This record gives sequence, C-alpha cells and structure tokens, in this order.
Amino acid sequence: MRFDTKLVHEGQRTSSGHGDVIPPIHVAVTFDQFAQDPARHYYARGESPTREDLEACLAALEDVRFALAFSSGQAAAAAVLSLLEPGARVVASDDVYGGTHGLFELCRRRGVHVRQVDLSDAEVVASALTGSVDLVWVETPTNPLMKIADIAAVSAAAHRVGATVLVDNTFASPALQQPLAAGADVSLHSTTKFIAGHSDVLGGALVLDDPDLHRRLAAHRTVVGGVPGAFDCYLVHRGLKTLSLRVARQVANARAAVEALVASPFVGAVHYPGLPDHPQSGLAARQMSAPGSMVSFEYLGDVAELMRGTTLFAAAVSLGGVRSLIECPASMSHRSVPRDVRLRAGVTDDLVRLSFGIEDPLDLVEDLTAAMAAASWAERSVAR
Ligand code: PLP
Repeated sequence: MRFDTKLVHEGQRTSSGHGDVIPPIHVAVTFDQFAQDPARHYYARGESPTREDLEACLAALEDVRFALAFSSGQAAAAAVLSLLEPGARVVASDDVYGGTHGLFELCRRRGVHVRQVDLSDAEVVASALTGSVDLVWVETPTNPLMKIADIAAVSAAAHRVGATVLVDNTFASPALQQPLAAGADVSLHSTTKFIAGHSDVLGGALVLDDPDLHRRLAAHRTVVGGVPGAFDCYLVHRGLKTLSLRVARQVANARAAVEALVASPFVGAVHYPGLPDHPQSGLAARQMSAPGSMVSFEYLGDVAELMRGTTLFAAAVSLGGVRSLIECPASMSHRSVPRDVRLRAGVTDDLVRLSFGIEDPLDLVEDLTAAMAAASWAERSVAR
C-alpha cells in the first residue's frame, strides 16, 4: 500500500461482526484473562486495542514495526530521555520547541550532559559528534527558526560514535519527511499537531524499528503511565486519515503567504525552507517532499498589534491544525526558555510564527496583509 492508502486502511481491525467500516472504540481498561485466546490484553496502561490500532497505522506510515502512542508529545519525549543514565551525553539542536528546552533542563539536573549546537551546520555536526555520545536529538525543521538538519548525514556521524538518533518530526509530519528511511532510529511526533490536525486532542508518538528499544520504551510507558485514553486515540486516528489532504492545502497556503511576506515592507527576514535564499533550501528539497506550512518572520512593527489585528489567524500556540494560528515565540511558545538562551539560538522578540490551516489562501493573505498594514510600527524604520 502507498502512503495515502495506509492513512485510511492501516490499523482498521474490525471484529464486531457488524460490518463496521471503522474499528469500534474499546473503552475497557481491564481485560478478562480467560475470555481471550490467546490472552493479549491485561490492563490498559500496558496495552489497549484502540491504542494499538493507532500505533499500527503510525508504524506503517514510516514502514517500520513499532509505534508507541503517548498522552502528549512531551510524554513521548520524556520517555526517551528517561532511559538515559546520569553521565550520559546528548547532542541536540540549539533551536528546539520551548518544552524540549525544559526537558533538557530536567536531564541536566539529574546529571545527563546535554549540549545544544546548530545541527544544520555540517562542520558543527562533525566536531560535536566525537568521543562518546549516547543520543543525538535532531529537530528539523526547527521550531521556530525553520533550520534544516541533514538527517542522513547526522545519523551516519552519530552511528559512527554509537549514538541513537531521534528526530522530532512534528513540524514536517510523516507526510513530508521520513526520518527512519533517512537513517534515524526514532521518529518523535507531537500528534497534537498535524497528525490529529484539528487542535482538539493532545497526543504524542514514538515510531521505531529496534525491538530492544521498543521493549524498553514500552516497559517504561507502562510503569510511568503517560498513555492516551481510547477516545483520544480514536480522535488522533480519525484526524490522521486526512493528513495528506490537509498538509497539501496547508503547504499551498504557506507558499502563498510567504510570497506576500517577502514582498511586504513591514517584514524583515522570512524563515521558510521553500524560499531559494533559505540557507538549507537544497537540503530541504531533497529531504522533504514539500517545505511544510510553518513560517516565521521578523516583523518590523508591533508584534502584539499584529496578532490582535488578524481576524482569521488565532493568536495561539500549537500548530498543524485546520485553523491558521499566529504567535510570538518569545512571549508564547518559548517564553519558558531563559532570554539569553533564546537570543543565542536566534529567537528574537520581534519574531512571529505562523501555522497555516486549510482556509482559502486569498483570505489568509488578505487578512495578514491588512493586519500588517494596520498595526502600529511607528518607532521602527522600514529600511528595505
Ligand atoms: N515537539 C515540537 C516540535 C513541538 O512544537 C511540540 C509542541 O508544540 C512538542 C514537541 C510537544 O508536544 P505536545 O504539546 O503534544 O506535548
């Protein structure tokens, strides 16, 4: 089966005898041990049929054997980091989601060394991946600066020093980027975003092919309990079926708006891997089937006014849903990151991040253009 068919057909076990065309939602949290042959389900913190249906689909989308669904992207990320012993060494992208910065801080407090570097720079990768490294944490495209790391090159360098490679694939989704096929070991998704796609359910997932790592992560999840309930799994799986259709429209909308942003006198640098002057545009074109629908840009006026001025873009964190969103990373998604760390990574106070939904592109461009023109930008000169 090809990708778009898998979205609809994988993980669709129907055994009720009613002829359901989608699987029923299994709400039981405990399972009669003598009513199953063979006994597969015991207690829903460990295993649950509706979660397994979602996991079967997620694994199939990346052509591997295993997926583990979690209650949030953060719970999935925390599971991987929890396997590290004090003294372990992690090399990670410098520009990552604010919550990932928080998880790295927790790691540092328990004696795990986390070094954040610019993994979009091949020379930095070569010098950082030497000696003993246990885990390489790649976010690509990065949140919010849209930097692109070469997954194949980073994975090859990491494997030479015996490190496991995790790619946070949240910004691209499996529809646009396949990290495991490129050589990574684990694909992490906040399924809250593109995979579920409607901003109405939290979820996370780890997708991988290594049976030993899968066993350790599954055992950890069962003990800690960061599992999604059956209804949440159903919502994520329902959203997933339209992933390709939604993403195609979202990318088209982003492209249309990027053109308007580049032409606007109110806008400085525009960060979008589909732009020819993006530093890794060639790599993005090879590694991703499209440049995605996340865009950030430097706004030369008052960011708060701009966010208040848009009518179709909700001023909200998160991303990947059917409704377009606008946010200021410095004061919203990355506000928990210490200012000096944030500025060192390049996340300035005037950076605006857009997540494109599936609305009509003309409406989005008109709304954004009107809001930019209306917003006050008095004290900033527009020298372009
Ligand atoms: N990874 C990235 C790139 C994110 O943007 C987010 C959330 O915004 C997460 C992980 C965490 O996901 P969740 O909010 O589902 O815990």
